[in-house]
Amino acid sequence: MLAYEDLVHQAEKKNLKIGQVVILDQSEQLEQTEAELRRRMAENLQVMRDSVKIGLTGERKSLSGMVGGDAAKVEARRARGESLVGDPVNKAIARALAVSEVNASMGKIVAAPTAGSSGVLPAVLLTVEEVYQATEDDVITALFTAAGLGVVIADRANVSGAEGGCQAEIGSATAMAAAAAVELAGGTPRAGAHAAAIALKSMLGLVCDPVAGLVEVPCVKRNATGATLALAAAEMALAGVKSAIPLDEVIDTMEAVGRQMPCALRETAQGGLAITPTGRKVHADFL
Ligand code: SF4
Repeated sequence: MLAYEDLVHQAEKKNLKIGQVVILDQSEQLEQTEAELRRRMAENLQVMRDSVKIGLTGERKSLSGMVGGDAAKVEARRARGESLVGDPVNKAIARALAVSEVNASMGKIVAAPTAGSSGVLPAVLLTVEEVYQATEDDVITALFTAAGLGVVIADRANVSGAEGGCQAEIGSATAMAAAAAVELAGGTPRAGAHAAAIALKSMLGLVCDPVAGLVEVPCVKRNATGATLALAAAEMALAGVKSAIPLDEVIDTMEAVGRQMPCALRETAQGGLAITPTGRKVHADFL
């Protein structure tokens, strides 16, 4: 079974970032050069940037009409200087909503790790990139850090709402974004692991309950709250705050909690918000 702790050990031993360790490993496994791997990840990054830009226009509506235009509202409030939480968090919220709205309207996004959770990682990384004036190359390395954690989570647990609830989708995305954000901000691989553990612990038990079975409500807004949670976890870890429970054990717990979750709370739209009076009405109206 894969362990994030092994990646941290390797990174510490070689004095590398997790993302660099992942690139070396992938280069060997896929028999591709580092340059080729980086080029392909750069394409993903561009799709992320484009989906943020498109979503922020506020012009896209989802299939049901429940979702669309909220990213533009948050961005407009920030542009008026009315932000409550400050620019970086406000931008992360708007960006996460933007990508998720593009996904809900069948636009092009990068699944990270899934389409339903695709807003968290770009929102967090593009915001940290801006704050720290990171280079494109650094952001690409951070994406490999996130990918490395995603692979570990998929191996030890899963990244599917149908299997593990929303904790496995938005929770995994939030943990991946937290680890990547720490490294992009100059933190150590160990601090990144603590950030991911803090983030995932905070998502444990989150159910998957999409209204009308559509990846719209509550999915889109959960991306925004996931992004803010990732930033909070990264902030704590960068300050030296540690998770009492190691990341791999948190991932294992997420897997166990997912198994204990009733079927109604795992993407079947038979529980949670999906069966509220409003959720049922949306379902009836949509079908
Ligand atoms: S509620 Fe379910 S479908 Fe929506 S993002 Fe979470 S896991 Fe995905």
